Formats: sequence, structure tokens, C-alpha cells
Amino acid sequence: MNHNGKISINECARCGTCCMKGGPALHDEDSGLVESGQIPLASLYTIRKGELARDNVSGGLIRVESEIIKVKSIPGAHTCVYYDDALQSCRIYDIRPIECRTLECWDTGKIETMYSRHRSDRRKLLNAIQWILELIETHEARCSFAEISRLASLREKGDPQGAEKLQAMVNEDAHFRYMMIEKGQIVPDMLDFLLGRPLSEIIPLQFGIKITQALSD
Ligand code: SF4
Ligand code: SF4
Repeated sequence: MNHNGKISINECARCGTCCMKGGPALHDEDSGLVESGQIPLASLYTIRKGELARDNVSGGLIRVESEIIKVKSIPGAHTCVYYDDALQSCRIYDIRPIECRTLECWDTGKIETMYSRHRSDRRKLLNAIQWILELIETHEARCSFAEISRLASLREKGDPQGAEKLQAMVNEDAHFRYMMIEKGQIVPDMLDFLLGRPLSEIIPLQFGIKITQALSD
């Protein structure tokens, strides 16, 4: 108990609260976990440059300046996919990523120091797979968040081209996904890592714009 009469901790009680707020972002120190398949690409997703994301240190929403690779959450919740609710424990505890090993909720100094450093990204994790990297580059050029912001702003000013071009971009994003599955034999669970989350989901959530469901082919 501290001097205010409140209970304080100075070691991890493995209560799982941090795991229920979302999975960790990956750093260079975690690349071996991905290369070895201990954390498969299907368990990851990409927050692309310019996307809105919660800053785990400040707690606020920010537009990220460079991409972040994160462990997925379970559908419809924030809880990390590796958190076992019944056992109230991490299923990969012994090999958990560096953010999880560094986080001390009672003293956030260490996590604040390492949080933005040496972040992993798609290029580092896919450095040997040239055709996928080229596709990712093309997707980034055609469906960037900088362009989404510009078109959203045009639309807000009443320019019909803003809405039309946004819808065309959503369709193109869906087409990229279709091509990766149909022609590239990529399993659908990997798309959130390879291309980020679908624009048909992100634009309504992050820009408050209603989107017509895109045709995928
Ligand atoms: S770091 Fe804190 S919030 Fe996370 S499991 Fe340990 S005690 Fe709970
Ligand atoms: S990887 Fe394990 S320790 Fe880290 S957030 Fe997920 S469940 Fe928690």
C-alpha cells in the first residue's frame, strides 16, 4: 500500500489487463519470432502510414508517421489473440514480443523509451519476397492515406470528385486483395498484414464517410 492508502504493485501480477487493451507492436528484436513462424503473418496486421491509431503510451489517437506491425486482436474486441481468457494467461508467454516483456504498468518509463524505436515493418519482415513487396509498394502508391485525406477533404468541401475517387480507391483496394488471393495464392488471413485493413472498413471508421461495398473482381 502506498502513502495514500492505495494498493500499489511493483511486479507483474499477470492480471491480463494490458493484454485486453490490444496486442503489442513488433520491433526488430521480434523478427526471429516471425521468421521462425512462432508468430505467423496471419496473426499480424499493419497500421499503414497516415492511419489513425491509439498511442499506447499517451493513450491518445494519432496519425502514425510510419507503419506499425501489430499482433491482431480477437474479432469484435481489443484483447490480443494470444490471450487465453479461460486460463487468464498468454499462450506465448515464454516467447512474448519485446513490448510485452518490457511493459511494467506500474512504471512506464522503460516502455516509453523503447516504444517507437526499431519498429518492424513489412519490408523488413518480407525482405526476400520481391513480388509481394512490389505489390505492397504499388498498393501504397495507389491507396495512400495521404490521398485518402486529400479526397476526404475535397468531399467535405462539396467537390463530387472527392467522393467518386474515394469509392474508386476502395474498389481498387478490394481488387488488390482479390488478386492476392486468386492469383497469388495468399491466404485471406494474411491480407491485413500485407495490405493493412480494408479501406471499406477503415474509411468509415477513421473518416466518418459511408462507403458502398466494393466489388472485388
Ligand atoms: S503488466 Fe500490469 S496490466 Fe499487464 S499483466 Fe502485468 S500487472 Fe497486469
Ligand atoms: S502476446 Fe501475450 S503478453 Fe503480449 S499482449 Fe498478447 S497475450 Fe499479452
